[in-house]
Amino acid sequence: MTRPREILVVGGGASGLMAAITAARAGAGVTVLEHESACGKKILATGNGRCNLTNTRMAPDAYRSHEPKAVAQVLRRFTVEDTLDFFAGLGLYTRERDGWVYPYSQQARTVLHLLLSEAERTGVKLQTETKLWEISKISPKGRWQVMTDRGRFEGDAVILAAGSKASNLPGADGSGYALAKSLGHKIHPVLPALAPLTGEGNYFKQWAGLRMEAQVCLRLDKKNAKRERGEVQLTDYGVSGIPVFQLSRYATEALHEKRQAELILDFFPPCSEKKLENLLLEKKSQSPEKDWTEILRGIFPDKLCPIVMKRVREKHPRQIARQLKCWSVPVKGWKDYAFAQVCMGGVDLRQVDPRTLESKLQRGLYFAGEILDVDGACGGYNLQWAWSSGAVAGRAASQKGKKESI
Ligand SMILES: Cc1cc2nc3c(=O)[nH]c(=O)nc-3n(C[C@H](O)[C@H](O)[C@H](O)COP(=O)(O)OP(=O)(O)OC[C@H]3O[C@@H](n4cnc5c(N)ncnc54)[C@H](O)[C@@H]3O)c2cc1C
Repeated sequence: MTRPREILVVGGGASGLMAAITAARAGAGVTVLEHESACGKKILATGNGRCNLTNTRMAPDAYRSHEPKAVAQVLRRFTVEDTLDFFAGLGLYTRERDGWVYPYSQQARTVLHLLLSEAERTGVKLQTETKLWEISKISPKGRWQVMTDRGRFEGDAVILAAGSKASNLPGADGSGYALAKSLGHKIHPVLPALAPLTGEGNYFKQWAGLRMEAQVCLRLDKKNAKRERGEVQLTDYGVSGIPVFQLSRYATEALHEKRQAELILDFFPPCSEKKLENLLLEKKSQSPEKDWTEILRGIFPDKLCPIVMKRVREKHPRQIARQLKCWSVPVKGWKDYAFAQVCMGGVDLRQVDPRTLESKLQRGLYFAGEILDVDGACGGYNLQWAWSSGAVAGRAASQKGKKESI
């Protein structure tokens, strides 16, 4: 006779809930230990409250890690199709735009509600407001114990799904990294990824609040590294918006390595510098009485025009077009973790078996989610990692040693 596996999941976020449901469906007895007052608070904040839960365009470069092959292996074991089937099975109806998948309700609450209902249906115990002190193995049987302010919990396996330091939510305190480290794991430096960037300059207050279509090129050590296009937000400290988020991890990583990073903003991506120069000449010939700032006001947002003209030395259309197509913002740094959507770095994947996400150092210890050294691009890729890694760890933790008799 076999007894059900007892599994402790540390962290009741996206990956922890997925791991818990997967393990419970496989017959394990699962307890989620969550230090916040409720599970899934970050899920509610995703996609501006709409939850971009996955992306049907799984580009290989959507993820960054020191171990990209391990990441790909996990994503193959629980794919986007598996994710869509899983949520459809819970009753979710989705909508998709350019590959980005959202609940049809446009409410992240729908996703969390369905996950919590399924956790309840499968008998998962959610132990919230539980502060963890220590995770340790009770040798020699391979049982685990977790010491908390609500007492001691015991299990056959522990899944560490405590997330990262990103966001301003109090639960995202990065305490999971210390727990992983205490169990011998190497942690790659944890830095904000998908975050706004601060710039060097004294004009940011003047452009704060502007949102406009732009192409952003990241230059590292004076060489073009990456380009993104979309709506840029100009802020009182520098720049933000999805294209900046997408580039930010490369800029942050470079600054961390004491390299130089610069953003080149193209405020007129639809056409070339020459065409913009011609457009400016045309507008000037239509209204010769207007000065250049007034001419620009017919094309660009009001606030931007005097800032551009201040930077132009010679009031010549070629110079003006140049500034508008190649606006340089040297990157000073990154905004705090509170402004970030995810973190790069985390538990070294070389110390984890990618087939199961079990630690190679500590049998019976599994990892899931952002605590691992993986970060994805904007567009649902980070939640997809949480679902895939949660499902892989939950499945493996519930299977191992199942044959063991009481
Ligand atoms: C504002 C914002 C918007 C985002 N939007 C999107 C989006 O639209 N699409 C997308 O794909 N990704 C998005 N992300 C990223 C995505 O939310 C995360 O990558 C994902 O939630 C990570 O899942 P996780 O389970 O690893 O961590 P989390 O979801 O953060 O869960 C970790 C849980 O563990 C708990 N915890 C932490 N430490 C302990 C401890 N010591 N003891 C007990 N419990 C602990 C936390 O309270 C939390 O509940 C967004 C992130 C933010 C901040």
